[in-house]
Amino acid sequence: MPVPLRPAVSGLPAYVAGRPAPTRPDLVTYKLSSNENPFPPLPGVLEAVAQATASMNRYPDIANTRMAEALGARLGVDADRLAFGTGSVGVLYHLLQAVCGPGDEVVHAWRSFEAYPIAVLLTGARWVGVPLGSGAEHDLDAMLAAVGPATRAVLLCSPNNPTGPALRHDEVVAFVDAVPDDVLVVVDEAYVEFVTSPTAVRGLEVAEGRDNVVVLRTFSKAYGLAGFRVGYCVAAPPLAQAVRAVALPFGVSLPAQAAVIASLEHEPELLARVAELVTRRDALAVGLRDLGLDVPDAQGNFVWLAAGPGTADVAATFGEAGLVVRPYVSGDPGDGVRITVGEPEADARVLEVAARLAGTVS
Ligand code: PMP
Repeated sequence: MPVPLRPAVSGLPAYVAGRPAPTRPDLVTYKLSSNENPFPPLPGVLEAVAQATASMNRYPDIANTRMAEALGARLGVDADRLAFGTGSVGVLYHLLQAVCGPGDEVVHAWRSFEAYPIAVLLTGARWVGVPLGSGAEHDLDAMLAAVGPATRAVLLCSPNNPTGPALRHDEVVAFVDAVPDDVLVVVDEAYVEFVTSPTAVRGLEVAEGRDNVVVLRTFSKAYGLAGFRVGYCVAAPPLAQAVRAVALPFGVSLPAQAAVIASLEHEPELLARVAELVTRRDALAVGLRDLGLDVPDAQGNFVWLAAGPGTADVAATFGEAGLVVRPYVSGDPGDGVRITVGEPEADARVLEVAARLAGTVS
């Protein structure tokens, strides 16, 4: 007799990760399917990690004290407003578990980060996906209209994964002021360090003085520590405390804490890499648009190529050329592929393949 699962869990899909790059004898392949940073961790970061591994017989600091102090000083926020988790996706799960349950609703844009529906369904709540606008950006008016008495949380993704545009600061301020102040508003800024638009939302400013607004961030992208799995939120102290209470004990490992602390010490070098990736991102977006392809504003470390019904074929063509991209195939006209900014050779090859595809993509 199978063990009965909670209704929220039976049928729940597991998160699907970007495919790895295959090994091929004929050419170098590139993984451009998970919005990873192509630069490896800095030597100073690896040294700190190696030192930390000498104490791996001990549990890590459960309170993440040094990491919270270092990050709090960097961001200019008190450490009691920070809560950490196993990637920012872990923090998101904990936030939603803290505020949602069966009968509740969570509003977010769709298409957006693929983990949102799973994180919501796990709590027993229902997700309400609000279609993106014509520039593949959040439609905040429609999202506001979707907020009702059952809404416990709204997830805003800026820049939006997988499509790229950032939310506007003034529009987010107006939005949060219009949403009831007992509804949690998460501003997911996983890619904030790559944002160059001067009008983009500044999540920390929005969260300042608003107890229901939480900023979600990660060390996986700009800091290049995806394998260490560390994310955090900046929240009002009672919400941060709730996340700590819900979180798995010792969810951030000892080497991961060491990697974060060392990365904050080496931040200028890491931000110089981010600036380089931003330059490559802009070149990639411009190059694709010059070919006549439909690429919305790209504010993260990735570009979105609207490909409609041809999406699977487009992804396959990139794959044949040794480039693993991320296809989003649902059968609706908003389908497309997301391409992470990679090594310079990878970006150049993306443009070569795209030149061959131009004209075949709607
Ligand atoms: N938010 C967004 C918008 C993302 O794209 C991602 C990763 N793809 C995450 C959160 C989670 O990142 P991590 O768990 O590695 O911190």
